[in-house]
Amino acid sequence: MTVAVRFAPSPTGLLHVGNARVAIVNWLFAKHHGGYFILRIDDTDAERSRGEYVDAIREDLRWLGLEWDRRVHQSQRLERYAEAAERLRAAERLYPCYETPEELEAKRKRQLGRGLPPVYDRAALRLTAADRRKLEAEGRRPHWRFLLDHEDVRWEDAVRGTCHYHGSHLSDPVLIRGDGTPLYTLPSVVDDIELKISHVIRGEDHVTNTAAQIQLFRALGAEPPVFAHLPLLTDAGGQGLSKRLGSLSLRDLRAQGIEPLALDSLLAKLGTSDAIDVRTSLDQLVDEFDLGKLGRATPKFDPAELEHLNARLLHALPFDEAAPRLAALGIEGEDAPRFWEAVRGNLGRLAEAADWWRVCATPMRPVIEDAGFLAEAAALLPPEPWDEGTWAVWTGAVKAATGRKGKDLFHPLRLALTAREHGPELKLLLPLIGRRRASARLTGATA
Ligand code: GLU
Repeated sequence: MTVAVRFAPSPTGLLHVGNARVAIVNWLFAKHHGGYFILRIDDTDAERSRGEYVDAIREDLRWLGLEWDRRVHQSQRLERYAEAAERLRAAERLYPCYETPEELEAKRKRQLGRGLPPVYDRAALRLTAADRRKLEAEGRRPHWRFLLDHEDVRWEDAVRGTCHYHGSHLSDPVLIRGDGTPLYTLPSVVDDIELKISHVIRGEDHVTNTAAQIQLFRALGAEPPVFAHLPLLTDAGGQGLSKRLGSLSLRDLRAQGIEPLALDSLLAKLGTSDAIDVRTSLDQLVDEFDLGKLGRATPKFDPAELEHLNARLLHALPFDEAAPRLAALGIEGEDAPRFWEAVRGNLGRLAEAADWWRVCATPMRPVIEDAGFLAEAAALLPPEPWDEGTWAVWTGAVKAATGRKGKDLFHPLRLALTAREHGPELKLLLPLIGRRRASARLTGATA
């Protein structure tokens, strides 16, 4: 069997980490099995869909490194859905309904009031042709429901195991709106059939849709694909992410300086039996991927964990890979490789390197804690050339001359040389700062 999967966002907003997880799991599964990854834009809701969100989806997926083999837009496939609806009508599986949203809501309330499940009562099936003509003469346009078989629907979910729903416990889903446009349920199945989707991997908020969609596949003469429903992410406290999703959009995370591979690594492993750790290539994640490692437990998305992976990735990032991005920050020239080795271990974000570059390569006002001590230390600076060993030689001489040691010795030197309390090892920074600047800073001058 050829593996083909799809990621099917609705372009009604920005992608967030929850969507990204579904996208990554689909992509890794496809790549692991040498299959296809299709980007399906679910834009049948013309009112809420926006071109700018389609652009954002493409940009975000590319940022994550998830190229697609094919892209389809549901809005360009409307005749196919109309044709499928025709076939369902001919098979008497699609029936017109005339209730207004208010009437449906009133029915629901009555059912709930009587302790009954709020399942659509199929009243429209009892309308005669004359009833329908009368309703249409009043100006009502029908919406169309799929007539479910009242039988058990079962499937082996690749994540949830055996699932079953009885058709009678579900409302006949509305497939076509009053204005003639299709709702999500039908186009999704039509496309899954036509694009030969082998596995539908999506969030567990779609589990009940699956029961109806399995019947729809069969009504359209196709075998349903394998389904896999992923539990939805929660925040670190176990709450749904929906309220915080604004701050967890991929666009924001990108703007905050999160590395795509840090996010890929986290989302590929969350909720699996593998330990969460950073990977330096998507290929590695592809090799390790196995749908069978995904469990039913609710995975927690913890931004602190993402920060941690981001830092680990930067700490191991080779200069060659960082170079173009460093150049964009103005960090280039012969000192750049040594500079990167010196500072990467201290970074939480790549952009923070710019601050350390300023410390090493641009004039800066020192912080002077003890002018007399610092002047003495300045006088002991060895002549250049300097290397990583210079720091130990110099501070050894300062210690011998002043009797200071430990924090008393090092802290004033760090403040004078960098104007910062903490930072990369001074033995690495000192040669980058150079003798002229170091000497001037130690004596209180901006240099
Ligand atoms: N557009 C649907 C969603 O975003 C797709 C669901 C599916 O994968 O079938 O929830």
